[in-house]
Amino acid sequence: MRILVTGGAGFLGSHLCARLLGEGHEVICLDNFFTGRKQHLVPLLDHPYFELVRHDVTEPFKFEVDQIYNLACPASPPLYQYNPIKTIKTSVLGAIHCLGLAKRVGARVFQASTSEVYGDPKVHPQPESYWGSVNPIGIRSCYDEGKRCAETLFFDYHRQNKVDIRVARIFNTYGPHMLPDDGRVVSNFIVQALLGKDLTIYGDGTQTRSFCYVDDLIEGFVRLMNHPSLTGPVNLGNPGESTMLELAEWVLKKVGGKSKIMYLPLPRDDPKQRQPDIALAEAELGWKPLVSLDQGLDSTIRFFRDLLAAGQENRTTDGH
Ligand code: NAD
Ligand code: UDP
Repeated sequence: MRILVTGGAGFLGSHLCARLLGEGHEVICLDNFFTGRKQHLVPLLDHPYFELVRHDVTEPFKFEVDQIYNLACPASPPLYQYNPIKTIKTSVLGAIHCLGLAKRVGARVFQASTSEVYGDPKVHPQPESYWGSVNPIGIRSCYDEGKRCAETLFFDYHRQNKVDIRVARIFNTYGPHMLPDDGRVVSNFIVQALLGKDLTIYGDGTQTRSFCYVDDLIEGFVRLMNHPSLTGPVNLGNPGESTMLELAEWVLKKVGGKSKIMYLPLPRDDPKQRQPDIALAEAELGWKPLVSLDQGLDSTIRFFRDLLAAGQENRTTDGH
């Protein structure tokens, strides 16, 4: 198949492009490089079936493709809050352009939605049937409401125009190719520990998240996309739940060194708890995460250790 991946230079997108090429597909990666990096795609650039296109999903685009994965959107809170108007345009116009293209060329289209559609949930764990508890005017709303509107568009194009859709609600995912300064908690803690800086816990560290390793998530993407009929929404995430304090302690234990924990104010509207109910994915996709937090953190720490060492090397050879 020929497959378009929007946001393909990002953390999840770069792993997805590699996986799809490995399966023998042609891949077109479209990205504006806001939070994506060409460096994540270096091993793919010489592949004869790989094309990289610099483009913004808020502008229309046209490709003859069989499948579209729509991943374009910054995912880290500080980065999506950097230009909130652009973030919501990316979600809404990006969805409209992907759906319009899918309708025109008869492609199946996948939306990378998010657990943020549940907001600060009143139901725990969160099943797909829960409608969420979202502040429509807060600092996270550009992302949360943008993704909720994108889901609405997906289901309206499906009902009105018979577009073949797949919607995944992704819970916090981590792994190699996150940016060291991306601002999300796993990358922050690991990079801080490797640099011997104190780990920054926002609030008292009792808030929880469920962390899924990237390889598990990508397996879930491909299974959902290739399911004959399941539109979703389907939760994809790891049901193991940790407090941010527990995560910080794990990272400190694994990395060693002199870092301690420091406490900073909790950002506004930060959800108190988050854990996926993955019964639907287990039943319909035969999917569940296989990589433990222990293994996943080890491989992510290895990635950042190599990245920081390479940066150090470049600085030394550059004379900076
Ligand atoms: P990321 O920020 O690493 O990747 C997003 C990619 O989209 C980047 O390459 C960025 O340059 C690109 N992009 C942003 N705006 C664009 C635009 N207007 N036009 C073209 N490209 C644009 O984030 P990620 O973690 O890889 O997330 C990928 C998708 O999955 C996002 O849609 C995100 O909302 C969703 N998601 C991720 C997580 C997670 O834990 N990683 C959780 C929930 C949902
Ligand atoms: N967080 C933290 N320290 C950091 C970065 C994040 O304590 O350096 C907290 C953040 O307040 C939130 C949780 O970790 O409660 C997960 O944050 P992240 O930005 O990774 O994802 P999201 O809030 O979107 O789930």
